[in-house]
Amino acid sequence: CGIVGVTGSDNAVKILLDGLQKLEYRGYDSAGIYVNDQDGQDYLVKEKGRITDLRREIGSDVHGSTGIGHTRWATHGVVSVANAHPQVSQDNRFYLVHNGVIDNFQEIKSDYLSDVPFTSQTDTEVVVQLVDKLAVEEGLNAHDAFVKALSLLKGSSYAFLLMDREDPDTLYVAKNKSPLLVGVGDGFNVVCSDALAMLRETHDFLELMDGEVVTIKPNEVRIEDRDGNTVERDTFHVDMDA
Ligand code: GLU
Repeated sequence: CGIVGVTGSDNAVKILLDGLQKLEYRGYDSAGIYVNDQDGQDYLVKEKGRITDLRREIGSDVHGSTGIGHTRWATHGVVSVANAHPQVSQDNRFYLVHNGVIDNFQEIKSDYLSDVPFTSQTDTEVVVQLVDKLAVEEGLNAHDAFVKALSLLKGSSYAFLLMDREDPDTLYVAKNKSPLLVGVGDGFNVVCSDALAMLRETHDFLELMDGEVVTIKPNEVRIEDRDGNTVERDTFHVDMDA
């Protein structure tokens, strides 16, 4: 199971697929990507099985400058295309990849989302539907809806990467007890569960701490602590080749 993301690249699909291939050693049963292009086009492709199967399904028409990718190790729900990530909100606005487990997903579903039609059996879909609900019904922007949704997850483990179709060059990131790094580039940035996945793109990484929320654009990485204060952090250099 692993996560990759990129913003500000002219070939997001290649970066995501090559990154997912590097994470194959972690084990998985299905995989998927969501990419969004400057021209307003976006694509969601998911497949059971190997990254080569996903690559074949993606073909040559799918392109984008920002995107997220995932290899799934099923914990909640069978191995299926519907349960593969990215998971999507009911209005097709928010796209979320997740490694880990949401302990209180049933409670969240019955307390906040009883009127929402679900299309998967995953604990992850509850989070993306919750973000959407908070954005639409409370008028919160993606960042604030994400922060509020995170505050409702009790005792869970996660690495999350979220995209908002209405703000297509931004990645929202958070982690708790699961690994996740930001890789810093010149005019682009990447996210990965393991630096190995992105060494072809950059050798400079930022470590993230549990409870932080990170907003990533092509030329900006903003880390905030639990109280919303901006955190300054130096990158570390990984001296290793892909
Ligand atoms: N709990 C999520 C699911 O079953 C994520 C699993 C993972 O870590 O890949 O879909």
